[in-house]
Amino acid sequence: MRLVLLGPPGAGKGTQATVLSKEYNVIHVSTGDILREAVKNSTKAGNLAKSYMERGELVPDEIVTKIVAERISMEDAKKGFILDGFPRNRSQAEELEKNLKNLGMKLDMVLYFKTKERTSIGRLTGRRVCPKCELNYHVKNRPPKEDNVCDACATALVQRKDDKVETIKNRLKVYESQTKPLLDFYTDKRLLHEVSGDKDVNTLFADLKAIFGKKNIRPHD
Ligand code: AMP
Repeated sequence: MRLVLLGPPGAGKGTQATVLSKEYNVIHVSTGDILREAVKNSTKAGNLAKSYMERGELVPDEIVTKIVAERISMEDAKKGFILDGFPRNRSQAEELEKNLKNLGMKLDMVLYFKTKERTSIGRLTGRRVCPKCELNYHVKNRPPKEDNVCDACATALVQRKDDKVETIKNRLKVYESQTKPLLDFYTDKRLLHEVSGDKDVNTLFADLKAIFGKKNIRPHD
């Protein structure tokens, strides 16, 4: 199982990647998560990425492509992987192709989470995260038991800096201009499969499992 999840911010890619990686026991590679961790730990890549992320711009390709190339060449990626948030432009997609070829691997499918703008905006503005254990919540769709407090570790929840309305608008613009052209790129390669990012988590999860079953997409031995 080697998948790319494509779609606008707030399409639910991260949520599905999390449940799918557990169900199929393949790794979930979220460039956003890896970069946020790098920023938190003030690594060289993190310090370089920080200002781009706060503005909702793409972090330079060299940084992200290196992160992904290293991650998918690790032993635990042999069974398969779910790329969430990568590639985000054509040059990253081409670089991914090269890296996969060198590893003797091919993508099974690129899932396009087609999502209405108001769904994306509603999910992103309502998202709250635990700064300690990184669990995600939503003020309406997935509220914590106690208001604004993490269920798991009782830390006060925060809003991601890039989940403020102005930055969200920029992230959606960047998606339209730089990432959306990848739909054609992967359609030409006969890899694109469209699903609805507007559906709730469980419904979409069931749809995805059915698609994988039909196409015999599963972890590698
Ligand atoms: P995400 O969590 O996927 O919404 O990503 C958060 C931010 O991390 C994005 O707005 C970008 O600044 C950066 N980022 C994540 N993935 C990439 C990527 N593939 N290329 C460039 N920047 C990225």
